[in-house]
Amino acid sequence: MIKEEPSYKIKIIQSNKRRRTISARLVEDTMLVYAPNSISDSKLEKVIDKLKKRLHNRKIKRELNKTHDLVIVAETLNKEYFNNSLKISSIAYATNQNKVFGCCNYKTKKILISHRLIQMPIWVRNYVIIHEMAHLIEPNHSKNFWNIVSRFKLTERARGYLMAKGLDREEGLDDIELAG
Ligand SMILES: [Zn+2]
Repeated sequence: MIKEEPSYKIKIIQSNKRRRTISARLVEDTMLVYAPNSISDSKLEKVIDKLKKRLHNRKIKRELNKTHDLVIVAETLNKEYFNNSLKISSIAYATNQNKVFGCCNYKTKKILISHRLIQMPIWVRNYVIIHEMAHLIEPNHSKNFWNIVSRFKLTERARGYLMAKGLDREEGLDDIELAG
């Protein structure tokens, strides 16, 4: 399970030498925060909150990609639905995909899948992966695109499932061109 709200012990190390920068790192369940003495408590609190989320996301991402190998999943789906014809340069979970379930860069052939999919049924996750993979052939939601995606028999069900999760717009699925 992924905890959306991280609960780390926080240890603040203040120093006169650090004039401007605040940095943090995670050591097991403790977040070490290095901050200048001059910073106000309220400012520090705000920054810590931000850093906490960032470190937590990074940690989740690392763990997810270690335990759920999307490369293997994509290889299987490539064989099953695309005649093994797709060339994917990378596929991984991302924790910054909160508004979308996945995205695909047609040019670089990189696919990112939202970590939120982990909490959903496997057939929903597979639908999203197939959807993104199909964008390697068809960048737009054309008729041909949906013909390809519907090789996956649970497409309509999965779309309904995602709609019920509150993302009913098709753009909610991807269509973000990632830089690089
Ligand atoms: Zn799409």
